[in-house]
Amino acid sequence: MRSEYDLIVIGAGPAGQAAAISGCQNSLSVLVLDELAGPGGQIYRSVESAHPDDSRFLGPDYLYGKSLAKAFRQSEADYITHAAVWEISRDSTLCYSHNGVSKQVAGKRILIASGAMERPVAVPGWTLPGVMGAGAADVLFKTAGIVPSGRVVFCGGGPLLLLVASHFVNMGVNVAAVLETVRPVQYLQALKHLPEALKAADYLFKGLKMRMALIRSHVPTFQNVRQVRIQGDEQVRQITFNSLGRNRQVSADTLLLHDGVIPHTQLTRQLECDHLWNPIQRYWHPRIDQWGESSVTGIFAAGDTACVHGAIIAEIQGRLAALEIACQLGKLSRKDRDRTAAPLRRKLKREMSVRPFLEHLFQPNHEFLAPSNGQTLVCRCEEITADQIRHAVSSGCRNTNQVKAQTRCGMGPCQGRMCSLTTAEIIAHERQADAGTVGAYRVRPPVKPIPLNELADLEMVT
Ligand SMILES: Cc1cc2nc3c(=O)[nH]c(=O)nc-3n(C[C@H](O)[C@H](O)[C@H](O)COP(=O)(O)OP(=O)(O)OC[C@H]3O[C@@H](n4cnc5c(N)ncnc54)[C@H](O)[C@@H]3O)c2cc1C
Repeated sequence: MRSEYDLIVIGAGPAGQAAAISGCQNSLSVLVLDELAGPGGQIYRSVESAHPDDSRFLGPDYLYGKSLAKAFRQSEADYITHAAVWEISRDSTLCYSHNGVSKQVAGKRILIASGAMERPVAVPGWTLPGVMGAGAADVLFKTAGIVPSGRVVFCGGGPLLLLVASHFVNMGVNVAAVLETVRPVQYLQALKHLPEALKAADYLFKGLKMRMALIRSHVPTFQNVRQVRIQGDEQVRQITFNSLGRNRQVSADTLLLHDGVIPHTQLTRQLECDHLWNPIQRYWHPRIDQWGESSVTGIFAAGDTACVHGAIIAEIQGRLAALEIACQLGKLSRKDRDRTAAPLRRKLKREMSVRPFLEHLFQPNHEFLAPSNGQTLVCRCEEITADQIRHAVSSGCRNTNQVKAQTRCGMGPCQGRMCSLTTAEIIAHERQADAGTVGAYRVRPPVKPIPLNELADLEMVT
């Protein structure tokens, strides 16, 4: 291991692995750091060690991750697993925690490929045992082969909800109901993007296949779901809701909530990169150029961190960023960079064609964005409710950082990852402003919780 690399990549998902492979092919010295136990990221999590039966359920999209991981392992990149990056400096040194020891390493360029997380769904009862994210259930299956027992109910919207529900149905999990919150107007808004989406029709066919799996298994699916209430004392027991104007209820032992995924922006925020607000998907993402370079020179972002576009686009963006970095460091001429990038850009254009359709169809649910029930817990770490945030706004707080200072909302160990967007939406709702104008929490290192002794014993770059 060196003390300085040409390129340090944070994240060994599709974006990070592709960048490392391409970087090595272009004579860059590359270090990849990831907090997981193996390469794959979210979509190909544990792909190297997955049991063949489990891989069969997850399908060919998942198995593709094996060939990517093989190419990554065969590249000359140094790769450290269980390495959580908790600070990046503008001079391109970064700190990471590995096996209880924090170390510093320097890179001439840094690529943040830290992916995305599920959007937290703050509804009354979301903190009850038995309630978790559909993506989190997917993670449990990929890492430990575990699926929930008893009656499992899915609630929310988005491709990942349908994907996990269809996987579970195929595995014989007792999926008792799927409650879809997509509103009819979203279908209409998406419809005008359908002709463009047909250029990548395979995505639409995959979506239809997921739906067919649910229909074939006679899973009750409720449309246009509103007013979701989770009931239970020590554990989720029942979900009440309104579907197409009728009040209904279903019993559940496990409730899997999902309302799309949002970029991990802790590192780009900590670096104070410029961020843009996506008004359809209602999240922040770093502003990058066509090669992935952010507003901070030498800092790049690729994949879902840069904007949630899925695994194939993440891979392409990783390769494009590596080409530009090789060019900036004199390992590749501009002509060769552009020649190699041209087919990638054509593929990128095709893959992008389906995104407006998906983004409009699966817009986040307004009921979940800013919970009207004042007792709903928004900040799980500091136990701050929606009413406490509203009270802070009525007493004069105008943005997320002022609310944070007044209430401690976002000051817990997750550093506001879970409550940042909900807090912004509540403030915006109270002020009748757009959430994009009320800002996000200021992020300070360490972006991952580390013990003080690790900080004191930090091994500096020599
Ligand atoms: C829970 C979940 C499950 C998903 N499952 C699927 C699926 O089955 N199919 C599908 O098509 N899409 C799935 N997605 C969408 C998925 O995010 C993308 O399709 C794809 O994985 C994005 O690739 P990426 O390389 O940008 O990021 P990711 O694949 O998310 O990889 C990011 C990597 O960065 C690492 N990382 C993050 N922060 C740090 C840090 N501070 N220090 C060190 N390492 C860090 C993570 O451990 C991770 O390995 C899922 C998303 C989520 C949130």
